[in-house]
Formats: sequence, C-alpha cells, structure tokens
Amino acid sequence: MKGTSYESEANRGLDRRRFLGTALGACCICAPLEFVSMRLGGNMGGSLTKEQRDSMTPLQVIDELKKGNERFRTGKMAARDYLAEKKSSAAGQYPAAVILGCLDSRVPVEIVFDAGIGDTFTGRVAGNVIDDDMLGSIEFGCAVSGAKLVLVLGHTACGAVKGAIDDVVLGNLTGLLARIKPAIRGTKFDGEKSTKNASYVDAVARTNVLLGLAEIRRRSPILEELETKGSIKIAGGMYDLATGVVELVGS
Ligand SMILES: [Zn+2]
Repeated sequence: MKGTSYESEANRGLDRRRFLGTALGACCICAPLEFVSMRLGGNMGGSLTKEQRDSMTPLQVIDELKKGNERFRTGKMAARDYLAEKKSSAAGQYPAAVILGCLDSRVPVEIVFDAGIGDTFTGRVAGNVIDDDMLGSIEFGCAVSGAKLVLVLGHTACGAVKGAIDDVVLGNLTGLLARIKPAIRGTKFDGEKSTKNASYVDAVARTNVLLGLAEIRRRSPILEELETKGSIKIAGGMYDLATGVVELVGS
C-alpha cells in the first residue's frame, strides 16, 4: 500500500523528470532511483524485482527493515497480497537481505520486519549460531543471489542463551549450546551472572550476536570481501520480545 507522502514525493519526481526531459530534450523518463518503490512491504503488485533489489544500497536495505519493524510494532503493517507475491516470485527471487534469527517462536523474522514472500532469505536456528551450513547459506544468499545485507538477529530472554549459561546437557542440543559458550566468556557484566537475571541473559545474547558477526567475517573470506568492497553489509540486531523493537548492534 503506497502512502500518501510517497505518492506525492513520486509525483514531484515525475514533475522534475518532465521538466528535465523538456529542458534537455531527453526522451527517457526513467524514474530516478530514489523514487523507485523498494519497500519490503506493501508492494501490492508482488515481491521485490531484480531492478528494485539491485538499486538498493546495503544501508537502504537496513532502512527498509527499520521501517518494516516500525510498521509491525505500531500495528500499521502494510497491506499485502500474498498470492500476488507468490505469483511474481515463482520464476525468480531477488531478496534484499539474509537474516539469521533464532528458532524462538516469538521472533518470526518476516513478521517482525513486515517483509513479504521473496523479500528476505531467513535462516533460523536456536541461539542464531553460525555453522558451516549456515555460512554456506549466507554465501549463497549474497554471493550468488545478490542480497545486500547479512543481519544476525538475537533477542531478549533467549532460551538457548539461558541453556548455555545453565550448562544444559541434552542430546544434540549440548553441541549447539557449546557454540554460545564463547559469548558467556566474552560478556563483561556487573551483577548477578545467572539466568535469574534478565539483564545478564540479554547481555550474553548481545555478545553472541557480536561474536556471530566476527565469526562470519573470519570464516567466510567471500562475505568479508563483499563487505570490504561495499557490496554488502554485515550487521547485528537485538529484538525485544516485549516491545517488538529491533535495535541494531555492532554496526
Ligand atoms: Zn532464542
């Protein structure tokens, strides 16, 4: 759903293009990039096109995610036609971001960013931990498919982080929680360091996100180079279960 302000801005752009077309004798009235609709939500005609995605900078993708999160937490989610998105993306996908989130049922990534079908690659695993398969998936998303942003998304009151702090031992979960343990060692915290202290749990979760960013850069020369070239940005976020706010961290 296009907002009034966007439409008036687009109209002003059209007027300017008409003026320039007349003044310069140009026949092309292609829309300047700043006026191209590239919202991750509310594209009633369908999902992101290649042109829309490729016209975005990594910072613009972050900005779109911020706007989507604001729409979500203020109850103003964009009108959306999932069938149109399904139809338009069937022949090809051009997601703008790869988001690695936690398994937690309360952090459904597409919903909290008000994004639609084909807008984001989303990987979810308890504690949003990095492993070789996830790294390979992120490399596919950016180096092959062309996504502009990698976002590692932790959240408050994370059960996986609590499990790591409490040294939970349970089947294959033990190995997963071991990947979070460096964040416990890496968190400087004044106060009670236990899962009874919500602030401590959230501090460890934040460190876990920061270590995840460092791990992506260290273990993936492909992604590290894309970021150095400015083709992508690798960023972190913390989602607050109570407020719905995503706060950017580590960028
Ligand atoms: Zn979690």
